[in-house]
Amino acid sequence: MNSNALYDTTAIISWAAVIILSCSYWFQIWKIHLHKEVRDLSIIYHVLLALGFGTLTYTAWQEGSTIFLVKQIATTIPVVIIIAQIIIHKKDHWHDEDDDYCKKCSKELEPDWSHCPYCGENN
Ligand SMILES: [Zn+2]
Repeated sequence: MNSNALYDTTAIISWAAVIILSCSYWFQIWKIHLHKEVRDLSIIYHVLLALGFGTLTYTAWQEGSTIFLVKQIATTIPVVIIIAQIIIHKKDHWHDEDDDYCKKCSKELEPDWSHCPYCGENN
């Protein structure tokens, strides 16, 4: 294998990794889109990710690295979308068909809850 072929192989592997990394975030976006469930997602974590990725996008552009630039853009955009989803769905509640409702205030209860966290009723 000559050095050019090695470079090509490395480039192909790197581009595949960029696509895989970007896809991982889009799977998260799809999951949130389906379930509207964001209470377990940290907004601070995603804001810091977006800041880091965004800053490195500028660095990549300064250094003239095409693959690094595309990688940064391809990860920054989905993280910003996740932040928007967290803000939009912040007030949405997970709904499970098996869950009971509080006899007093009608709010949804988790299966192992005997006391309602909203009104204090013992169900
Ligand atoms: Zn209640």
